[in-house]
Amino acid sequence: MKVGRFTIEQLSEGIFEVYDGNNFKKVSSTEITGKTKDLPDFGFVPTVGIDPILVLHGNQVILLDTGLGWGLDKGSSYTNTSNLITNLDIFGLTPEDVTHVVLTHLHFDHAAGSTFVNSKAETNITLPNAHYFVQKLEWYYAIEQAMQADNIAATHYQMDELYKLHAEDKLVLITDSLFELLPGIQLIHTGGHTPGHQIVKIFDEEANEFAYYLGDLLPSEAHLNHYFMQSLDVDPLAAKKAKTILLRQAFNEQATLLFYHSIYAKAGVLFKDENKQYAIEPVNMSY
Ligand SMILES: [Zn+2]
Repeated sequence: MKVGRFTIEQLSEGIFEVYDGNNFKKVSSTEITGKTKDLPDFGFVPTVGIDPILVLHGNQVILLDTGLGWGLDKGSSYTNTSNLITNLDIFGLTPEDVTHVVLTHLHFDHAAGSTFVNSKAETNITLPNAHYFVQKLEWYYAIEQAMQADNIAATHYQMDELYKLHAEDKLVLITDSLFELLPGIQLIHTGGHTPGHQIVKIFDEEANEFAYYLGDLLPSEAHLNHYFMQSLDVDPLAAKKAKTILLRQAFNEQATLLFYHSIYAKAGVLFKDENKQYAIEPVNMSY
């Protein structure tokens, strides 16, 4: 799809059921068992999509989150699975072509594709020519969590291989709450889901077109009017506040929202239904 001068694509890794301890199991869309469209009640297995986002403009190739990274490691037991590299290939791109990587936060389902282990058991950087943009607060929070054993928050992070980004000077640790990545692409610190969580705004003012990628602040259209991510949010109040402000802004701008974890509408424009609740008018990504 187009947002002004930007082309936006989704790099879908598929649909997954999430079990205790953050175990992901890939399922086909016909296998989805649980109630998924409405508010989950945790009486069933949550089902999520994993959809990193690709933004293209001229020579700039910008990746928003890097997915689960299944099948990237040379010794991986996952074969024939879609991941960053296979999905970039669909658009005629190689990992070397990517110029910027934005990580909304460092939970492994958003960041694990950033690196991979080669056949000599060495960690490599998946997008070797890109810089990886992360909030400084997120980086240090993740390290702190990962170092504490018996810490539930630590199970969301797999930091061992991400240190390679730091070692090779590929990390850009952001301290600004609003950071201009490129003209028309802003990174906005929201906190909430994790202390250093950030979102991405893509806009072309001349065309008057706007899009937001809200990461885990708004993982899918099912989360629009509900706050059931609360149990997963480090600071639910901050998350709710940030979400309220951003949704109001996105509604006023008639912006397109891009979802990472949706299994239905992958993108859509906000409107208010007869109950004054937010709803999504799905947008077909292939236009
Ligand atoms: Zn997360």
